[in-house]
Amino acid sequence: MFKKILIANRGEIACRVAATARRLGIQTVAVYSEADATALHVEMCDEAIAIGPAAAQESYLKIDRIIAAALATGAEAVHPGYGFLSENEAFAAACEQAGLVFIGPPAAAIRAMGSKSAAKTLMEKADVPLVPGYHGENQEADFLQQQADKIGYPVLLKASAGGGGKGMRIVEASADFKAALASCKREAINSFGDDKVLVEKYLVRPRHIEIQVFADTKGECVYLFERDCSVQRRHQKVLEEAPAPGMTAARRAAMGEAAVAAAKAVGYVGAGTVEFIANQDGSFYFMEMNTRLQVEHPVTEMITDTDLVEWQLKVAYGLPLPKKQHELVIHGHAIEARIYAENPDKGFLPSTGRLHYLHTPAAVNFETVGAKSNRIDSGVRAGDAISPFYDPMIAKLIVWGEDREQALLRMGQALAEYQIAGLATNVAFLARLIKSAPFASADLDTGLIERNHDVLFPAPQAVPLAVLALATAVLLDAEKGEVAGDPWTINSGWRMNGLCKRVMEFSDDAGSTALNLTYQPQQWLLQHGDEHRTLTDLRLVKEMLPNPSQKNFDAAKVALRLDGKVVLGTVVRTQAMFHVFHAGHHWQLLWRDPIAHAGEAEEEGGRLTAPMPGKIIALLVVQGAVVEKGAPLLIMEAMKMEHTIHAPHAGIVEELLYAVGDQVIEGVQLLAFGGAEDSK
Ligand code: ADP
Ligand code: ADP
Ligand code: MG
Repeated sequence: MFKKILIANRGEIACRVAATARRLGIQTVAVYSEADATALHVEMCDEAIAIGPAAAQESYLKIDRIIAAALATGAEAVHPGYGFLSENEAFAAACEQAGLVFIGPPAAAIRAMGSKSAAKTLMEKADVPLVPGYHGENQEADFLQQQADKIGYPVLLKASAGGGGKGMRIVEASADFKAALASCKREAINSFGDDKVLVEKYLVRPRHIEIQVFADTKGECVYLFERDCSVQRRHQKVLEEAPAPGMTAARRAAMGEAAVAAAKAVGYVGAGTVEFIANQDGSFYFMEMNTRLQVEHPVTEMITDTDLVEWQLKVAYGLPLPKKQHELVIHGHAIEARIYAENPDKGFLPSTGRLHYLHTPAAVNFETVGAKSNRIDSGVRAGDAISPFYDPMIAKLIVWGEDREQALLRMGQALAEYQIAGLATNVAFLARLIKSAPFASADLDTGLIERNHDVLFPAPQAVPLAVLALATAVLLDAEKGEVAGDPWTINSGWRMNGLCKRVMEFSDDAGSTALNLTYQPQQWLLQHGDEHRTLTDLRLVKEMLPNPSQKNFDAAKVALRLDGKVVLGTVVRTQAMFHVFHAGHHWQLLWRDPIAHAGEAEEEGGRLTAPMPGKIIALLVVQGAVVEKGAPLLIMEAMKMEHTIHAPHAGIVEELLYAVGDQVIEGVQLLAFGGAEDSK
């Protein structure tokens, strides 16, 4: 076996390859851009070489630098992962020329499948069924329109060199054809440097079913069954599962054999995926072949008890396929959910930022062989950032079940435990998706998300009292440090002052809401709208956050009782923003800090009062000072944050009533302030 390999990728796929290499005792070399100097994939490898600036064009796509890194470190082979250079014929050829083994198919097979049009011509010859359409050389607009008219609308225009769901246009009628063609060609030249297109019948309610194939250098080729990747947004996969619901043994064999024929037609070696588009009646057509390991390969690994990266390494080393076709069997059902930094409510727009808080469900990392527990493949850890430079995928969550129903239940549970604060994610959307009736009943097709828009994108819901109570618990706990005594003991000074009523105001997308608190010995009475509850037994366990960049972040597991019933949650706080994770949901609440708004309400008749208990940490004015409206007067520290009290209007500081270091209770007058609003 190879002693050392270089992994020409980043993120979860680089980590995934490194994990198998480590298990097999193979040394690994990572490459990294300036943006990735401290990335997880660098840490997971034995050596690491810097290859350039953040932009992929300047680093992960620089063939000569990657080859130089492999030669300098004595790596014998290069694993390209997926994306980046994985389907780049020139890269495969450059590896070979440098005496390095490319862990992937021969350059000629990449070339043969690189153009969707040329691939279709080859597949036609190999008797693989094709979607009715035109994939020839003639690119004249009139000619293509005639072809489309002949096929019958709707038709789909596809960039021949396309990928990643880009460069496609649906055309509904002949009258729209020319405009769609022009726009498709524009996108194709901009994204892929080649404006060649093909036209095919646009199938109604199709399913995306793909076959994993594997070939060795001895001429053997097997299929490791199918994956159903029908659940997509913007022609990109969101959920993938194996086996495909409703698949019969006969059709599986037919698709498997067609895929093997496709691979053999191009002299394929290694891991590849033949993608088919299937009608609801099961008839299927070749769509394209991806000549690499696929993002969704773990579902296949789970149901076949294989490690496809191990297979890749063995085949690249010249060994025979580890298993024959008849030795491959399907065991159970696996589902993968792609967790992205994106905002489903804003058209799935990618989001960037730091994963300030990351809590994952119990799972093994990258492990494949016999992994019947949950699996997470991820290239980031808590505190890491999702940058605008690369794919915004945070992780892949893969679950296994004895059957689809069990896998779905486990997926629901795992997503409910996936907690991320710091950037927008699709976790809540995924949870709704897997629970939605069409997905649960396997009524699958590529339009599932759009057709079920109302269920999948519900209007924001009113915040439940339990969630407000969890956020409030953290606020009450933060006060503990500032006021002598425990908020649960009756001796606390500010309560003796008679001020035992509080209002906590929060707002979120649905609007603002208030929780009224009344203190009683050993408990709080909570009132929210018509609801009344008694809050007791508050317990808080603070969590350590790993990254120094998270200075202003607090996270705590909170337990409390409402009317005697236990309520559990996790609350992550930055300044006035509260992330409450409770019962599988994530609420983002903005607390209306009464101190920040102190001047607005608390100043009455020359009094400026403390809106909550705290400590005076700075006096910014002296007695007798004449100040403008909004001038900072003093700084209080309350709930671990600094709050500045500002002059509500122009006036004169008549008397300072406290000194630096003094503890103050809620409602006391802090200074005497004179001069009416209209006096200056
Ligand atoms: P397809 O949609 O062609 O079946 P996949 O779903 O396997 O392909 O992946 C889509 C593309 O997304 C990949 O080809 C790759 O370009 C990109 N991609 C996704 N995640 C990553 C990653 N972690 N690193 C690099 N590229 C990625
Ligand atoms: P890419 O290279 O971007 O992955 P594909 O040819 O694999 O392009 O198509 C991506 C997706 O577009 C498919 O998974 C499917 O949802 C949709 N699609 C492709 N061809 C058709 C078609 N003829 N009819 C309907 N939908 C299609
Ligand atoms: Mg595809």
